[in-house]
Amino acid sequence: MAFELPKLSYSYDALEPYIDARTMEIHHTKHHGGYTNKLNDAIKGTSIENQSIEEILKEVSKHPTAVRNNGGGYYNHKLFWDIMSPDGGGEPSGKLMDAIKKDFGSVDNFKKEFNQAAATRFGSGWAWLINQDGKLVIASTPNQDNPLMDISEVKGTPILGLDVWEHAYYLKYQNRRPEYIDAFWNVVDWNKVEKRFV
Ligand code: MN
Repeated sequence: MAFELPKLSYSYDALEPYIDARTMEIHHTKHHGGYTNKLNDAIKGTSIENQSIEEILKEVSKHPTAVRNNGGGYYNHKLFWDIMSPDGGGEPSGKLMDAIKKDFGSVDNFKKEFNQAAATRFGSGWAWLINQDGKLVIASTPNQDNPLMDISEVKGTPILGLDVWEHAYYLKYQNRRPEYIDAFWNVVDWNKVEKRFV
């Protein structure tokens, strides 16, 4: 039962002008496709072949580095595509909004802290909003690690993630990572993020 590259629910040009079509296509087909294929190669014929991705990541320290890198890459991108939408942007609502106000004071303050985590992650990695037993926490991880992994410094369930690898923004933004981070908020699907939270 191999993992499959998930289909996007929108077209490659749907997130323009914030994320360009060429980046989306290469990112989805080549990068996410590559992680998916290499994850399948790494688990084929092993005892974890039929585990869910969450089960695999929870005990990732027991597995080869290829499982950590490609299992993380498979999971992280799947979440990333899911929490973006051409109808995104605006403000969170409902229980998620309540929690953001409780844990960060305001949406602006939450975004400021998240942007800081995304901008200062050295080299390649991800910025996260995670649910830690009902409390919202901002984190960042290197490479394709994520907070579900037993090796992660900060643990929790990711509900929002931003890819800050150069392959996610370089064609359009070159070295201007902060501009890409600002643009991201225009395509965040807050309904999906709230669903992941509750
Ligand atoms: Mn990526």
